[in-house]
Amino acid sequence: MRVLVFSDVHANLTALERILADAGSCDAVWCLGDVVGYGPDPNECVECIRRLPNLTCILGNHDAAVLGLIEVEAFNHEARRVIQWTQQQLTDANRDFLKNLPERVVIGDVTLVHGSPRQPVWEYLLDAQTARHNFDFFDTSFCFVGHTHLPILFHLNEFDSYPIGGYLPPNQVVQLTPREIVNPGSVGQPRDRDPRAAYAIYDTETHCFEHRRVEYDVTQVQHRMRLAALPMRHIERLSLGW
Ligand code: ZN
Repeated sequence: MRVLVFSDVHANLTALERILADAGSCDAVWCLGDVVGYGPDPNECVECIRRLPNLTCILGNHDAAVLGLIEVEAFNHEARRVIQWTQQQLTDANRDFLKNLPERVVIGDVTLVHGSPRQPVWEYLLDAQTARHNFDFFDTSFCFVGHTHLPILFHLNEFDSYPIGGYLPPNQVVQLTPREIVNPGSVGQPRDRDPRAAYAIYDTETHCFEHRRVEYDVTQVQHRMRLAALPMRHIERLSLGW
């Protein structure tokens, strides 16, 4: 099965449409959460993702905050402003879609969460020590996560006490081997200083994971963000990828 894997669209329709066109046809879609927050197109992104074939979509922390499941005080001032703006924009049908998203799903030998298997909605997997603890919280060969907006892979060898972590090279195929935690990066707000939209194609039979990067028209998104009076810092960071 050829699976389109992506995370952290963050209401950026231009980037989402670009990766969907680039990916071509897939048998299934695994979205790892944060469909909304930061960007100017929350309804359009939810509607686009809802229509994708054979979709599994996970709840992210921004999705949960928009639903009122997480206190907005947990976010910084600017992110909070956008969460409140998104709450005003979302239609009832799109809010219902977010409300029904699970925090964790297992498909074959892959566990899907937004943050980490230990704390699916909130925890950031940024270092080997945190990743090590998290290998005890899933029992499949692989765990796919989002949330940090960084395309990273942590590999745990049964003889090692700590996993080896590293950035996924853009536009290259990596053969996954048990056990690994893998992050496809962010579609709508990359934070690895590469402003291109990030996503992955995963083959469930061969375990080949291709991390892809594609350019999209950032200025179009920034224009819509200005019209919606979204925070300037969020507008600027899109061009730089941080
Ligand atoms: Zn996010």
